[in-house]
Amino acid sequence: MSKTIIFKNRPAGKPSRSDFELVHEEDPGPGEGEVLLKSHYISVDPYLRGRMRNEESYIPPFKLNEPIESMVVAEVVESNNPNFQSGEFVSGMLKWKELQVSSGTGLNRVDRALAPLPAFLGVLGLTGLTAYLALDKIGKLKPGETLVVSGAAGAVGSIAAQIGKIQGCMVAGIAGSDEKVQKIEEDFGLDRGLNYNKEEDMANALRRICTDGVDVYFDNVGGEMLDAVLQNINKDARIINCGAISLYNETELPTGPRPEGILIKKTALMQGFLIRDHAKDFGRALRQLGAWLQDGSLIYEETMVEGFEKLPEAFIGLFEGRNVGKMVVKV
Ligand code: NDP
Repeated sequence: MSKTIIFKNRPAGKPSRSDFELVHEEDPGPGEGEVLLKSHYISVDPYLRGRMRNEESYIPPFKLNEPIESMVVAEVVESNNPNFQSGEFVSGMLKWKELQVSSGTGLNRVDRALAPLPAFLGVLGLTGLTAYLALDKIGKLKPGETLVVSGAAGAVGSIAAQIGKIQGCMVAGIAGSDEKVQKIEEDFGLDRGLNYNKEEDMANALRRICTDGVDVYFDNVGGEMLDAVLQNINKDARIINCGAISLYNETELPTGPRPEGILIKKTALMQGFLIRDHAKDFGRALRQLGAWLQDGSLIYEETMVEGFEKLPEAFIGLFEGRNVGKMVVKV
């Protein structure tokens, strides 16, 4: 029998364990042209929360009583598809199942010689690509500028912040605990870190650490954090709306200060980013990320949760700040 996690309830507010159900299914067998895949590492990501709402978006919502899906690194254990050999490793958007069959469409071969398998869900997967391409397309960093990153100890944020350092910027990171602040300053090499849980007035706190103002803001959090950064932006600032995790569990969206006045005065650019729109640049981005990993200018961290059954807890943990770097479940 093979384990599967299905989506049981659409959460109101923060997701809970009862929104998921672990079921056992018969081992599938691959049909003509199909491969049988065994999941090894499964990615949990904040954007999955958006798919739990029954709303139209850039990606369809999850259906109730069907498996959740996310990026998975899997092993081909049986192949009736001439493009894949058994024993190979692949990554792709797959179901939260121990074993599953696939036609092979959308699977990418993973080169184990390049990096350990979970890295293909993080720094060499959509995480690293998002950090690199959002800065490349919208941030357009110049040496000497000030970059602020929220969620700076997380998967995307920790990579984006280090890219800022590689590109010669002063980089300040915002995170949710003193341990994370220490981590981003000492291990990821940022100039300054700020624990938002300890600050009464974030706009003032940012003024304290970004004495030359903010040129680029890599926003993973949205909401009040974005409002506070906007009060500190310089002329021609670029604001990358990558994520808004502080709002993902809200049942009613809060109204904040209106940004247009600041954007006009500062002739600033605020632009949304979706990694799925940039597939044609993945090769170039991966080559650069790989080169930085090799020469040691970029490092990455993972928070590895062990056990397929722990997928819901790991996912919920993202909203409790339980990860440093990429949160991954080892099956
Ligand atoms: P992270 O690894 O950053 O994990 C989530 C982190 O968010 C937590 O560890 C926590 O850190 C922080 N957090 C959770 N709740 C809150 C809150 N209410 N306020 C402030 N911080 C909070 O996840 P990812 O790096 O995978 O994703 C980061 C963001 O980027 C997400 O918003 C995600 O949706 C987005 N994203 C967007 C993509 C795109 O194409 N646009 C692609 C990939 C990701 P802490 O302890 O510091 O609070």
